[in-house]
Amino acid sequence: MEKEKVIRCRDVGFDCDGVIKAKTEEEALKLAAEHAKKEHGLEEVTPEVVEKIKSVMTEE
Ligand SMILES: [Zn+2]
Repeated sequence: MEKEKVIRCRDVGFDCDGVIKAKTEEEALKLAAEHAKKEHGLEEVTPEVVEKIKSVMTEE
């Protein structure tokens, strides 16, 4: 079975049990950014935020 990219919202720094899963890193980053905007009021996904998300991304 193919592995999925997994991002735990809590690891990014939010008090949240949200888990984002996607087939590709690109898709995972997009979904995580959308989640952060919608659920956590993040106004802008800065390069720093992208780096943070990448750094906590795992494969399962
Ligand atoms: Zn969240």
